[in-house]
Amino acid sequence: MAITRRQFLRRSAIAVAGAGLDATGALGTIVLRSPARKVLILGAGMAGLVAAYELVKLGHDVTILEARTRPGGRVHTLREPFADGLYAEAGAARIPENHEITLKYVKEFALELEPFYPRSLNAVRFDRGSREEVPIEGYTDAMTKTFGGELGDRPERWSKIKGGSDLLPKAFADKLAGKIQYGAAVVKIEQDANQARVVFVSSGRQQTLTADSVVCTIPFSVLRKIDLPGVSGRKREIIKATRYEAVSRVYLQTKNRFWEDRGLNGFAFTSGAIEVWQPTWSQPGPRGILMTYARPGEAERITKLKENERIATTLKQLDSIFDGLRGNFELGATKCWTEDEWARGAWAFVGFGDFFTASSREGRIHFAGEHLSPWVSWMQGALSSGLRVVKEIEESAKTV
Ligand SMILES: Cc1cc2nc3c(=O)[nH]c(=O)nc-3n(C[C@H](O)[C@H](O)[C@H](O)COP(=O)(O)OP(=O)(O)OC[C@H]3O[C@@H](n4cnc5c(N)ncnc54)[C@H](O)[C@@H]3O)c2cc1C
Repeated sequence: MAITRRQFLRRSAIAVAGAGLDATGALGTIVLRSPARKVLILGAGMAGLVAAYELVKLGHDVTILEARTRPGGRVHTLREPFADGLYAEAGAARIPENHEITLKYVKEFALELEPFYPRSLNAVRFDRGSREEVPIEGYTDAMTKTFGGELGDRPERWSKIKGGSDLLPKAFADKLAGKIQYGAAVVKIEQDANQARVVFVSSGRQQTLTADSVVCTIPFSVLRKIDLPGVSGRKREIIKATRYEAVSRVYLQTKNRFWEDRGLNGFAFTSGAIEVWQPTWSQPGPRGILMTYARPGEAERITKLKENERIATTLKQLDSIFDGLRGNFELGATKCWTEDEWARGAWAFVGFGDFFTASSREGRIHFAGEHLSPWVSWMQGALSSGLRVVKEIEESAKTV
């Protein structure tokens, strides 16, 4: 990359200031000074939800069209097929301590935080046959080396939302009751001098809605299949060229947490592309879940396998790290993000050169989403881009 992540984050601080957000990401400087507008928001992920929530607060008339039957998009807590109310994250899980915008909304909705990493028992470092037990600091030190100081260099202070990450999008959605149309898959976005029009399919029937402004948070991986006569050729090229990364996760439910008797906390890592988490360490037992988090490089290989092969391969791999796993295994589940019809990948960055073209509004159409933010692959990115668009709409209301 021509510019480091650290440099980009620094620049993002300028972008945030330019968007009229105060230091905590709150809409400190925005006051309703424009007439109420009819706004259609495409996607009920974090970007769409925060934009809707703040626009409604400012008095605008908002409708969200969402293809799925739930809010949250890539924030998705898996509660099935696990027993005893156990859960694990398919997408967003960790909140670094300096993600002020995410933390602001966690606080606003009175959600409870708890540490992401356990502070007791040992983790395991494994690499091509080698296996070493290390204190949890060894794990978080490895994280620090991976991410540097950019995300706050103390992963031991990273948190998670008690009860599951999906409580955050659900809290937004509760505040937007009646304004989200689920099962509505957008197929066309167009505009003229007077209005924007969005065509979508709901229950097999094609429908059209019009609005003063449209906020498009659909990931570019999906957007590239949507008819976009209202968007410039250059932007369409970027949408088509943006490459989404693969991430896969495999979950293994066990009868009990036998690893704890051996002084292990269920976390493990390699220097490569796989981490092992035990999301249940802070949930009631006796059952547990061990899960792998395979990053780009390894994730593509796992995605190519059939579901039962993914589980069998992971069971074999983790049995060599947590001896006895096979005998305690009850059931497995997997999530591969490139297969997800409404995400087609885990995350993407449009590139520093194309960032401003990709994220800038075109007439009545505004663009948001983690891919159009300085915090790519984080909820904070999606939230900050949604807030940027709120400011854009306030400004465009005066001019369009
Ligand atoms: C594996 C993984 C791990 C992650 N880990 C973390 C983490 O630990 N911490 C963290 O902060 N962040 C994490 N993230 C990132 C975070 O989840 C995302 O940055 C954020 O949720 C993206 O929000 P978004 O609104 O930009 O996109 P999305 O959540 O994808 O929302 C877009 C919405 O548009 C909808 N949509 C798509 N196509 C259509 C259509 N045609 N019509 C209508 N609606 C449509 C989708 O269904 C979706 O709901 C992780 C993500 C992944 C995938």
